[in-house]
Amino acid sequence: MKKQTQAIHTWFPRRDAYQALSMPVYHTAAYEFDDAAVMADAFCGRIDAPDYSRVMNPTVTYFENKVKQLTGAAEVIAFSSGMAAISNTFLAVAAAGKNIVTSRHMFGNTYALVSATLSRFGVQVHLCDLTDPGQVEAAVDVDTCCIYLEIITNPQLEVADLSALSAIARRRGLPLIADTTLIPFTEFSARELGVDIEVVSSTKYLSGGATSIGGLVIDYGTCPGFGKRMRTEMLLNLGAYMTPHVAYMQTLGLETLDARYRVQASNAARLAERLRLLPSIRQVNYVGLPDNPYYDLARRQFGPTAGAMLTIDLGSREACFRFINRLQLIRRATNLFDNKTLAIHPASTIFGPFSENQRRQMDVSESIIRLSVGLEDVDDLLEDIRQAAAPGGPADV
Ligand SMILES: *Cc1c(COP(=O)(O)O)cnc(C)c1O
Repeated sequence: MKKQTQAIHTWFPRRDAYQALSMPVYHTAAYEFDDAAVMADAFCGRIDAPDYSRVMNPTVTYFENKVKQLTGAAEVIAFSSGMAAISNTFLAVAAAGKNIVTSRHMFGNTYALVSATLSRFGVQVHLCDLTDPGQVEAAVDVDTCCIYLEIITNPQLEVADLSALSAIARRRGLPLIADTTLIPFTEFSARELGVDIEVVSSTKYLSGGATSIGGLVIDYGTCPGFGKRMRTEMLLNLGAYMTPHVAYMQTLGLETLDARYRVQASNAARLAERLRLLPSIRQVNYVGLPDNPYYDLARRQFGPTAGAMLTIDLGSREACFRFINRLQLIRRATNLFDNKTLAIHPASTIFGPFSENQRRQMDVSESIIRLSVGLEDVDDLLEDIRQAAAPGGPADV
């Protein structure tokens, strides 16, 4: 079956009492057993029966199985947020004295997690330029526990060569862990590019229009013991499993993911081309523009689409604030890949708690606006951006 068909038609492991066509939402904390032996088997993992919804729930399992079929993964585990998927993954592969090799170019909370939170538990971070394999090679040592990256960094839009990083990871016996939130797994195969473990904020493309917060860990079975540890240790001891109601919404989101993604990515590409013609915009950064430095690499890795996130440079923080304040149609909000187009000034919001110096090191510029392009008509989006970015005018502050 083709992916889009699979995304729609995944069978339930068992029929429910009423033969519901949608997977029912099993809102229950616990499950009852017929006898002590079956109960013991369930608790010790000898049979695949749910015992407690902190670690297993049929509605969540159904969502995980859909993702498993679509990616060909060995194990898929759904979490209560993208950050829960990321933090649980690090806690499974790292230990005091170990280090994570990654870059400063990444989502603000992930950077804070690796540089501040994990360091309190003795896990170090080795920062390097992930687009330079020589630097990555030099950053890895005997205590490295993984190489971690975002496939298109948020918000710098940097793309590293996954096959080159995978070659280093294989040679040194390390897992390559990639945050693939920016391009859906229905579009490309991270496994074929050598990624061992994918982490995804399913809040974004998957949730079907910003319905809910969620995360996924997609394990390709190449890192010994990882999937088992996630299920038997992390879910039990840290308790960040997805809830059944969220799994229900995100299952519906997954069914329409491909259709939504196609329109959003094409809108983003068309908008990026047209925004470059506006004199009030100094620069448009979008990986799908043919003269973008990562264009060829991104096409090779992710195929013809480049996602629906782009940034525009308006020259100054003041111009960005004025732009945000003047927007009429585009919404002032964080989040990515909602059905609605969203705008945010990353430096003063997501990266606001960092110092100016840290922001400079992370290449989070004061003069950029991040846009997440939605499903609206591109003409209307362009018109709103044109009026908001125009110099002067009555709304000028
Ligand atoms: C949003 C995001 C996250 C965090 O996901 P949540 O679901 O908000 O916890 C992690 N990585 C990237 C690239 C993101 O865009």
